[in-house]
Amino acid sequence: MDDADLLILNTCSIRDKAEHRLYSELGKLREWKALARGRAVGVAGCVAQQQGDALLRRFPQLDFVYGTHNLRRVPEMAAAAFRGVRDSQTEESRSQERFDLPSRHPSLEGDPAGRAFVTVMEGCDMFCSFCIVPSTRGREISRAGAEIVAESRNLVASGIRELTLLGQTVNAYGRHDRRRADARAEREAGAALALAPEDSRESFAGLLARIAKIPGLARLRYISPHPIFFDEDLIRAHAELEVLCPHIHLPLQSGSSRTLERMRRRHTAGEYRQLVERLRESRPDLAITTDLIVGFPGETDADFAETLALVREVSFTDSFIFKYSPRPGTAARSLDGEVSDAVAQARLEELQDLQRSLTLQAHRARVGEVAEILVEGPSRRGGAQLSGRDPFHRIVNFSTEAESPPAPGSLIRVEIVDATPHSLIGVWSGAVDDDRPPRIVKMGASIADERRAVISS
Ligand code: SF4
Repeated sequence: MDDADLLILNTCSIRDKAEHRLYSELGKLREWKALARGRAVGVAGCVAQQQGDALLRRFPQLDFVYGTHNLRRVPEMAAAAFRGVRDSQTEESRSQERFDLPSRHPSLEGDPAGRAFVTVMEGCDMFCSFCIVPSTRGREISRAGAEIVAESRNLVASGIRELTLLGQTVNAYGRHDRRRADARAEREAGAALALAPEDSRESFAGLLARIAKIPGLARLRYISPHPIFFDEDLIRAHAELEVLCPHIHLPLQSGSSRTLERMRRRHTAGEYRQLVERLRESRPDLAITTDLIVGFPGETDADFAETLALVREVSFTDSFIFKYSPRPGTAARSLDGEVSDAVAQARLEELQDLQRSLTLQAHRARVGEVAEILVEGPSRRGGAQLSGRDPFHRIVNFSTEAESPPAPGSLIRVEIVDATPHSLIGVWSGAVDDDRPPRIVKMGASIADERRAVISS
């Protein structure tokens, strides 16, 4: 911060806690800005989209605000801010141009740990009753398949080993384009089928299959799918695509069909259970993680007991558990049956305890295995340990006696010797499990320099 001229706070508004954090950070930045001339502050993301000009009015130290569709405007807004011009841009865009972002610049791609995210769609048309995303991220729009595949190819060519396809409801990818193409075909008695660009009719499973063929790609993931958009092709993809990781983050939110209906999730607990069964038939070792909300309006002890039962039955490897947080403009705000904070807190703790024991059980079952790890860097546990993730998305902290530790982004095999509720503990023998030249990280070289070196070699 001491060296920066420009600070941008990227915001989340999924819960009010994150929103309040923004206000407290902006308060602190008033002092930072006053310490030197020529400093500027911007706010991005969902709170920016929601509040726009109101943020500029409330915080005089703030120079610019841009919403979820306006990332492309940052260079001009930042330049204007340094000339003393304050601005807010929150218009929604339906154009494909919004996917053509400066983040596609090679120096900003991925990270040195060999992983990158690729946006395939944005926005959401599902309007779950608790969720603010449809109003902050706008309507669902899919990116052109050819662009997604080209970006994925470039990333892999620059040394990326693991790609994660991103979208609010990622497996709804292309559904509106297919519907439009079908309607056109019906109108024109089949002629338009031949006229429609091939990838405007592509399913999410088709997109996965195309990306899975990119030579050099070791791992493919996607996040977050919605349970109602799994078709047979996508379920089968988990059996057929070798690079598709055996892990799905599959939001459940509640194990009670009554609560799911009030949440407008458009599926029942039984349908979720059946989906898990079909996915596990396709890929028996599949690790499933989830999101859960406790204390949703009207949630009774019996509803909560159903959540506990389903969590036990599915045996999630991990879950993100939240207390319900009322958000402006959402349908759940007008629901009756408010759950007291004390009850919600007790449910949160009970569910967290259950999840901790399930995670530990799943981790202990893996002691003695040899796991393939994509190395990320030094472990958060400190000491000389390194850390990485296995294909099931579990963190593996490992030690090694080898003289040269593996560089971030290397694929190695680690023997799992112990387990905690948070991670697996392993030992690395020194062998690199990689058919490509080992990554040599030059000290002092930027990521871009490193990538260029990899490409030119
Ligand atoms: S599908 Fe996900 S992003 Fe969309 S409204 Fe529901 S919870 Fe929000």
